[in-house]
Amino acid sequence: MKNNLETLRHSASHLLAAAVLDIFPEAKFAIGPATEDGFYYDFDLPRTLIPEDLPILEEKMRTLIKQNLPFERTEIESEKAKKLFQKAGQFYKVELIEDLEKTELVKKVSLYKTGSFVDLCAGPHVGKSGQIKPDAFKLLKIAGAYWRGSEKNKMLQRVYGLAFENKKDLEEYLERLEEARKRDHRKIGKELDLFTISEKVGPGLILWHPKLSLVRELLESWWRQLHRERGYEYIYTPHIGRAQLWETSGHLDFFRDSMYPSFKDTETEEEYFLKPMSCPFHVEIYKSRPRSYRELPIQWNELGTCYRYEKNGELHGMARPRGFTQDDAHIICTPEQLKDEYRKAIEFILDIYGAFSFKELKYYLSVRDPNNLGKYVGDSKVWETAESTIKEVLEEKGIKYEIEEGGAKFYGPALDIKILDAIGREWQCPTIQLDMNLPSKFGMAYIGPDGNEHVPIMLHRTIFGAMERFCAVLIEHYAGAFPVWLAPEQVWVLPIGEKHAEYARKIASSLLSQNIRVKVKDENETIGKKIREGEMQKIPYLLVVGDKEMESDLVATRERGKRDLGTMKTEEFIEKIKEEIKNKL
Ligand SMILES: [Zn+2]
Ligand SMILES: [Zn+2]
Repeated sequence: MKNNLETLRHSASHLLAAAVLDIFPEAKFAIGPATEDGFYYDFDLPRTLIPEDLPILEEKMRTLIKQNLPFERTEIESEKAKKLFQKAGQFYKVELIEDLEKTELVKKVSLYKTGSFVDLCAGPHVGKSGQIKPDAFKLLKIAGAYWRGSEKNKMLQRVYGLAFENKKDLEEYLERLEEARKRDHRKIGKELDLFTISEKVGPGLILWHPKLSLVRELLESWWRQLHRERGYEYIYTPHIGRAQLWETSGHLDFFRDSMYPSFKDTETEEEYFLKPMSCPFHVEIYKSRPRSYRELPIQWNELGTCYRYEKNGELHGMARPRGFTQDDAHIICTPEQLKDEYRKAIEFILDIYGAFSFKELKYYLSVRDPNNLGKYVGDSKVWETAESTIKEVLEEKGIKYEIEEGGAKFYGPALDIKILDAIGREWQCPTIQLDMNLPSKFGMAYIGPDGNEHVPIMLHRTIFGAMERFCAVLIEHYAGAFPVWLAPEQVWVLPIGEKHAEYARKIASSLLSQNIRVKVKDENETIGKKIREGEMQKIPYLLVVGDKEMESDLVATRERGKRDLGTMKTEEFIEKIKEEIKNKL
């Protein structure tokens, strides 16, 4: 059953099409579904739409709303419908009907008429156009879209709209959109000189500039240290592997579309692939010698750079790249150890996420589809134990979670954790996946206390997800204002005049000696301009130094977003900022 809002949104797309028909009687209509926040409609038009067309179309839609037109449904033979649309030159609709006849063997189709616009549509719709509030929708943008999403077909014009139940909901949504636009990591990435994607290098491949490289280095070394404290061992594995490896792992069967095409060893003709994930390499290390139950659990972590072929249209800056570094870990344990290891993995994730002031973590547990148990590999009993163990761990920790029935991969249940950023958007980052496929596919084993061979349990676990994506999340979450401990430049010292430059450099070197990242801004600019630049670059602390400060070893301190903190002794400032860095503020 479609919900009301979806029905309302889809109905608005009919009104948009009717408005377009009014301006362009020769318009050809493709499809017009509801979306997450509104609707769109694809048109084939005699001219390219311009943004100025949108308010005109909106006005026409409002007129149609005022007329309170009914959505009249008729059902006719599909043959007859084809003829009707053929005659009207609506060949996209003809193609859609032919498709319905072929794939769903329909003989009859339903048409909906609103004013003079007739559409092929299954519905449902609102009863009358007046149910759409004239001030609760908005046409948002125009984009190109291939007919049926294929580059081989004609490029159509897609008009996106928003539609809500009332004006207040629409306005709130527009505010959130505006806030998201301001925080877009691609925009901030340029403003703060953080990263580039170069057409020459290739789409989806990230070039990390020095400042963001430093943020990543800080995250990674913290991550490594926390792993070591928890008994993990760091390993390195290659970027490429033979076809044979990916055949055994099942990637060539199930994941090939997301892998870059192979290349050949020129001597042996052997086929190789870039790795889309590191797991099979870790398995091979495990298998390099016999293992005893005494060695388990094994915990290996790696920052593994992987490559996945994402479609061009799906790329999104650093949030959805083609080359990315996973903060990967594999935990290989006995079934008896599973509960403890799972609990520890969740606690680890919580420890790390505690440092970023995210609003909330949301937990989604993907389990099997109870009506389709046959599509999963592994012993059903092991699945049951695994699923109930994970639930027990979550419940014991008092964690609320949602169950996604049928969401599990074919090889095991997964716990996906979504984080809510500063403006309430969900981002999927950490995940723990239990794997019943790889250990048996690769013949992983350990000798148990009974002297027999057993198959271990394998957990895949990432905390950040990928360094690229996580940094994109951080940029958007903090709107570029990284907390002091992560800020690539923590302090700028700003001499007021030329004669204060040497004192400024002296302050900088005492900060540097305490590992504080500092820069002296001694360009020949007014102090006001330097302060503004520091604010734009979101520097946590600006230290202004002039005659007064120079005389008594003081710094006039400005904290980001809080204006003046007044003057203080240099050592006092050093103690303050060191404390903040230590506490990850
Ligand atoms: Zn419809
Ligand atoms: Zn893995």
